[in-house]
Amino acid sequence: MSAVLAKANADAESATARAWAVLEQVPDPEVPVVSVCDLGIVRDVAVQGQGVAVVLTPTYSGCPATEVIAQSVHDALAGAGFDPVTVSTRRAPAWTTDWISDAGRRKLRAYGIAPPSGNAAVHDDGPRPIRIHARGVDCPRCGSSQTEKLSAFGSTACKALYRCLACREPFEYFKPI
Ligand SMILES: [Zn+2]
Repeated sequence: MSAVLAKANADAESATARAWAVLEQVPDPEVPVVSVCDLGIVRDVAVQGQGVAVVLTPTYSGCPATEVIAQSVHDALAGAGFDPVTVSTRRAPAWTTDWISDAGRRKLRAYGIAPPSGNAAVHDDGPRPIRIHARGVDCPRCGSSQTEKLSAFGSTACKALYRCLACREPFEYFKPI
């Protein structure tokens, strides 16, 4: 590899790392404590010259947050000096809550929202989907598994409202999909 080419590759690598660092700071509009990276919706970051192209997979279809997120991602990268910035969406494979990172789950819990348990629908290679039975939802505050569902919908359609029977506090549960 020529020295010039090696330098170009190193520049692209550091620009890509810089773009990811910017994205780590872009919050989910519904749960601002979690970044778009924590949510696992950033599918691809491609740096080309001064520009960057980002591919996002929307979370819940019909979640109005998607346009807000795309705009925030665009503005953050443009603000960091990338030009041009293109943001596109890829809908397949569909996002599932399994894509939320461990760091994202910790942040949700610290924020008082029970993260989705690992029971999103999974599929083997056969024709029938396998659904792993939902475990109970643990209280994000005291960790008790003695909780009850109050409402299928919390502050947004993406969350359900629960109450802890141990510490008596209500909390939201990020529903697995
Ligand atoms: Zn509790």
